[in-house]
Amino acid sequence: MRNWFLGLLVILGVLTAGLQNAEAQVLKIPDCNTLDILWNTRYFHTLKIVIPVQVMKCEGPSIERAFAEAAYILENTRFRTDRLKKGTRLPPANMLKFSTAKYKKLIVDDSENPWADLDKKNIHFPKDTENLDGFSVVGNIVHEARHLDNHLHEICWTGPNKGLWMCDRGLADSFNEGGAHSHALLYLAWIGGRSNWPRDKRIAIKNLTRELVQTRINAPQAQKDAWIEKYIDRLW
Ligand SMILES: [Zn+2]
Repeated sequence: MRNWFLGLLVILGVLTAGLQNAEAQVLKIPDCNTLDILWNTRYFHTLKIVIPVQVMKCEGPSIERAFAEAAYILENTRFRTDRLKKGTRLPPANMLKFSTAKYKKLIVDDSENPWADLDKKNIHFPKDTENLDGFSVVGNIVHEARHLDNHLHEICWTGPNKGLWMCDRGLADSFNEGGAHSHALLYLAWIGGRSNWPRDKRIAIKNLTRELVQTRINAPQAQKDAWIEKYIDRLW
């Protein structure tokens, strides 16, 4: 009887420690000074960004802060791998390396939207990216980089973008398949479902992912619903 009770205490202790551990591992974006150091020593070069070097602004719009946050997220996000269905393909271990390897330069200019120059192998971002937080930029970096694997969009079949050249055919389950939207959506789905970012961020990302599946993917509705159920709505 006593052994049984002690055993239970040990199990409870392990469980509590596990929970505290999981709590302690929740990521957060570093403060501005730390980001500035990361920017100047590494991210500026890794992103291959074409802008004048200057000290990061800690208040208000800042192109350096927006891209440094994005680089931090791409480099540091980790995913839970427990209870994965057999055959599930994990995202690349370092998404920052994976995406930046695909392009030559990241150019900030007067473009209206992010876009990829397939001839020159560059990606372009508008100046107003300075108003975004890193979570709004990561999907775009993954997206534009994937274009440079020679994946173009096609005309949207339905929805608010019907007739516009801004959709991809089908959804992806691995980073070896699918177009620019499919790649970004799969990465966002992993962040939303299995990353170590705070819950409110993950919920916002899940909502964005759900909306983009409906408006940027050409697939039968049942297929979209099944993907959303698998990656967004269910705990996986
Ligand atoms: Zn695109």
